Amino acid sequence: MNVTAMPSNAACPILISSWNGLPATGLAVKLVGEGVPMLEAMVAGTALVEDDPEEFSVGFGGLPNEDCVVELDAAVMDGPRHRVGAVAGLRGFRHASRVALEVMRRTDHSLLVGAGADKFARLVGFPEEDLLTPRSREAWLGWKAQLSERDAWIDPRDQATNFGTALWAGRAESPETQGMPRAPTTFGTIHTSGLDAQGDLYSVTSTSGLSYKLAGRVGDTPIAGAGLYTDNLVGSAGATGRGEAVLQNCGGFAAVQLMASGKTPEEACLAVLKNIADRTREKRLLDGNGRPNFNVTMYALRKDGLTGSASIHEGYQHAVQVGGRGELRSSAFLFSKGGPSRPS
Ligand code: ASP
Repeated sequence: MNVTAMPSNAACPILISSWNGLPATGLAVKLVGEGVPMLEAMVAGTALVEDDPEEFSVGFGGLPNEDCVVELDAAVMDGPRHRVGAVAGLRGFRHASRVALEVMRRTDHSLLVGAGADKFARLVGFPEEDLLTPRSREAWLGWKAQLSERDAWIDPRDQATNFGTALWAGRAESPETQGMPRAPTTFGTIHTSGLDAQGDLYSVTSTSGLSYKLAGRVGDTPIAGAGLYTDNLVGSAGATGRGEAVLQNCGGFAAVQLMASGKTPEEACLAVLKNIADRTREKRLLDGNGRPNFNVTMYALRKDGLTGSASIHEGYQHAVQVGGRGELRSSAFLFSKGGPSRPS
């Protein structure tokens, strides 16, 4: 790739994030202005979302697994050092992205999982707590009760109860679930890729993953090359949505490789999503038009500061910060609402 035009210092830092990342990236810009290093500022922004009890897909208040335990996945990638820090299946520590940063800073390893990740977080001094909120516990109870008519849990839809929230129905308000068929699961994650005034690239990703997942399920979010990937010579990319699809197609790595071969960030995102759609062949994953019945949104940032994002389906947004101004922009898409069937 031949990117000669670097963005002006006034434009930096430049960040692209998932739709829920506008306040997070705004905080990152402010902190960088105060002299905080870029990756640390991005993680501090992510922690805002991890702290939010109303954000049901990240950190504190994230929806639990099938055993009603919140398990978090997160990762950071440092472009200049080409280093990764990540945790998966972390229990009892809300700031998964901060723990991931410490894995990168304090150890020779890239990924800690399960009990080992918990032990590490405890050892380095993160406070331990129950991450369930009354709302996320109620959502789990509602999900559990509507699973089967042949167990002792009474389906609240058969009762005159006050369970009728979107969360109970497994249809939380995330854009990632909009337009999806009724499903007992939800998705949601924060991803951010950033470029600082030195021309260095970084990425951060944090999630509670797929709601009601099997205990131990790990998605794309903490996996370098899938939910995030940063190459300081080329660009940075990340993903939100159905992690299995991103993992199976090395989404983040593919997007950066496509930028290296000359595609714009948006073109790279669309090409990754087309690969995913073309390889989704199981009937249970297709809608009536033969298109994926799930969404993935990709985010990409090139070394010269150009940003781009795309989704499988129409109607998704992403956050961008350039020159100290943040805004939500519409992501490009493969399939329009009610549009034609997938191209064969
Ligand atoms: N990609 C995440 C996962 O599969 C969830 C999401 O982004 O919505 O765990």
